[in-house]
Amino acid sequence: MEQPRPEDKDWTWVLDRPCPQCGFDAAAVPRDQLAAKVRSNAAAWRAVLNRGAVVSMRPPEDPERGPVWSALEYGAHVRDVYQVMAERLKLMLTKNDPRFLNWDPDAAAVEKRYSEQDPHRVGYDLALTAGKVADALERVRDNQWGRTGQRSDGQPFTVERLATYLYHDVVHHLHDAEAGFKAIAGGGDDDPDDEVDGQGADGES
Ligand SMILES: [Zn+2]
Repeated sequence: MEQPRPEDKDWTWVLDRPCPQCGFDAAAVPRDQLAAKVRSNAAAWRAVLNRGAVVSMRPPEDPERGPVWSALEYGAHVRDVYQVMAERLKLMLTKNDPRFLNWDPDAAAVEKRYSEQDPHRVGYDLALTAGKVADALERVRDNQWGRTGQRSDGQPFTVERLATYLYHDVVHHLHDAEAGFKAIAGGGDDDPDDEVDGQGADGES
């Protein structure tokens, strides 16, 4: 069976130009605000994951993208993104130009059965892990933001770019989850321009 995909392997371009889907603009997120924004993103995710039965429902299939994850599946993915990025940040801050282990989000979704997880537990763990990331970001000193690391595909990152990349990821999927709720409710309008307002829910404002 074809699985929905998180589509975030090659999102490094969002560091250089705004994301047309979720409206995220990396240039508008100063690095010293990243920790606070991560905390509000986690709070927004907990609210999303507490919305009841709809959380586990997959929206109708997207004609272009195929199957679409439920809010629960996106939430479980975001929890794991926070976990993976927490480890990468730690590596970059303690080793010189480390190479990260590969992480396959699609395989993780299947192996860990995202769709069968308990939404409250996912929300709790997501907030816990995001809190660790935020704590780590608060401790980054000015001369550490430029420390480097590489993804297994050779993509280079600095601490600042990895943290910004992470933050877009978790904002973008919040947007995905909200769009899914709308589609399930029968809105049927997936014009991305309409979704920019949804940014308010993730603490962007
Ligand atoms: Zn985006």
